[in-house]
This record gives sequence, structure tokens and C-alpha cells, in this order.
Amino acid sequence: MHIFFPESKKGTQFSISGEELKHLFVRRIQKGEKVGIIWENKLYLCRVVEKNKKKALCEIEEEIETKIPKLRLTLYQAVTLELKTFETIVQKATELGAAELVPLITERSFRRREVILKKMDRWKKVSREAMKQSGRTYELSIREPASLEDLEPPSDLNILLDNFYEGKPIGSLELSGVESVSVVVGPEGGFSREEGERLRSKGFLSVKLEPHVLRADTAATVGVGIIMNLAGS
Ligand code: SAH
Repeated sequence: MHIFFPESKKGTQFSISGEELKHLFVRRIQKGEKVGIIWENKLYLCRVVEKNKKKALCEIEEEIETKIPKLRLTLYQAVTLELKTFETIVQKATELGAAELVPLITERSFRRREVILKKMDRWKKVSREAMKQSGRTYELSIREPASLEDLEPPSDLNILLDNFYEGKPIGSLELSGVESVSVVVGPEGGFSREEGERLRSKGFLSVKLEPHVLRADTAATVGVGIIMNLAGS
């Protein structure tokens, strides 16, 4: 089912216009066909009842039940030197149900704050596309870039994905009673030894994904995926 973000809602009808209307035309969706609509954190099954060059009107047939994860997961991801890789991470974090993504500036990350700030709109767009693709109804909140120095353990459980030190295997994490988790992942070149030590002394728990060293985007995807699954989210 194709999913769209409407411009407005009036009674039981949504109006699609602009970019989203273009998508509807590209996908050749005709009057009478069914589409999904995401509106105020809900997903609706709708029928297209009118379609012209300015707008498409979609009538609600029913609300589709969706799940909002119980676990609130924040991914602190060092900005990858390859900015395209960060887009992949935005996409996967959205699909997997992370609540928040904080781009981190670290010793070996992409470090130009003004360029990162300019990328925020693009990342929000990538995230919205991932919402449509996956049927996720609530937004991934992408926050302003932060530095490692400012980072204090913010959640019930704070994890550093760490390929250097004897970390806890991810499968052995105990998540009962844990409502929020933060996951910190390094850039392509990893964290420096001092950064790792600082994070651990602040209270971040070293966690290992065995058995190999993974690329940053793989580590983020697998780490977030396993934790969401362990939490039954
Ligand atoms: N070039 C670095 C690897 C960096 S991988 C090196 O050779 O050590 C990028 C990030 O992914 C790491 O900083 C870490 O946060 C995460 N990561 C990769 N493999 C991992 C593993 N096996 N266990 C835990 N974290 C891992």
C-alpha cells in the first residue's frame, strides 16, 4: 500500500497536494484506489475520491492499528565522514522505531557543524520517506548536533557500542523495567581510546556486537534492531 502525508483534514477527508501529490501521480494512483494516510501519529486506510492537478481527496475507510514502541531509544551517532552513510542510518533508525537521533561530533567524525546543520532538512526528508515505506506513524526526532563532552548518560540504560574493550554481549542485556535506552555509535574510524575511556567513566556501558568489527551504519542498525527486539518493541 502506498502511504502519503496529507496537507490537511476536513471531516473524514484528507487533502494531498504539493510534493506528495506529485508522488501520487508518479505512482499512477487512480480515483477509487486505496492508499494509506499518516496523520497525527495515526495510520488510515483511505479511498481516493477525487484527483486533479491541484489536489487529491481521500476519504477515510478505517483506522489501521499501529504500534508505538514501549521503549524510548535515542541513538547518538557520530556523524560519518561519508555523509551519505548518515542518511542510511537515519533511514534505518526510522524503520526500527528509534525515538530520537542525535548527530555527534567526535574526534574522528565529520566535524563541520555548519554543514551538518544544513543537512538537517535532507535528513528529515529521508526520515519521512522511511516512515511512509515502513508505516511508522510518529516522527523520529532529529536533534541538533552535540559534542561528546556535553554528553551525560541521559537514559535508564546507556550503552556504548564498543569494538575495543571487553564489553557485555548485546544479547545479555537485561531490559525489564527499562523505559529508555541511549546507544552511542562511533564514526568510520571509531572513537579514540580517550573518548572510549571518558564515555565509560561517565557511566556508559561497553557493549559488544560479536564477532566482527562492523561498519558504523551496520553497527547502528544491528544495535538498534537488537535492542528494540529485546525490549519487545
Ligand atoms: N575503524 C574502527 C572501527 C569503527 S566501526 C576500528 O578498526 O576499530 C564504527 C563504530 O561501530 C565503532 O565506533 C562502534 O561504535 C561500532 N562497532 C563496530 N563494530 C562493533 C562491534 N563488534 N561491537 C560493538 N560496536 C561496534
